[in-house]
Amino acid sequence: MRILVIEDDDVLREGLADGLALEGHTIDAVADCADAREAVAGFAHDAIVLDIGLPDGSGLDLLREWRRAGRATPILLLTARNMAEDRIEGLDLGADDYLGKPFDLGELAARLRALMRRNSGRAEPMMRIGSLEIDPATRRVCLEGQAIDLSRREFAVLEALARRPDHIVSRGAIEEAIYGWQEEVGSNAVEVHIHKLRAKLGTGVIETVRGLGYRIRSKESG
Ligand code: CA
Repeated sequence: MRILVIEDDDVLREGLADGLALEGHTIDAVADCADAREAVAGFAHDAIVLDIGLPDGSGLDLLREWRRAGRATPILLLTARNMAEDRIEGLDLGADDYLGKPFDLGELAARLRALMRRNSGRAEPMMRIGSLEIDPATRRVCLEGQAIDLSRREFAVLEALARRPDHIVSRGAIEEAIYGWQEEVGSNAVEVHIHKLRAKLGTGVIETVRGLGYRIRSKESG
């Protein structure tokens, strides 16, 4: 999942970016409202972690702007421990969840998974498509009951496809899901990951839709 972290405290921002990257996510991290607006305008994120006190404004103003503009990306607010007013205002402005500082990174990661699960209309944490099972919490993948070992990027590609079974996901959308904005992306990077996934999962799982992208079907095609 591609997550935008907006936090001006350098130690916290870098800790969040590193910790969430270790959980297998692709992270864009910014420190102020101006960069946050630019990141949100330029890229599709699966979730946003938003600090309230930022050097050039309030995270609550960003939240208000984005919701007024119809942006539905799940947003988790980071709030000061004893600021119930901020949490109430934030939730009423359209935040989906909050965590008071200091917080546990594992709890933040679990809350983000819950937000994205709800956002995609799933109640069940495990993704099951045919004989494929994907656990976003542990990043464990099984095919016909056999555990399959995937790299971080391979997992991200598979997850991007599995979150929308039967939909064609374009190469550009996969690139956006797995690479942050400061990362160099090779022109055939997605093809390379798909090729490796097929070597591990067999050729029947991920279908190429010529000129459009890739798809995982929820039912085996004949
Ligand atoms: Ca702050």
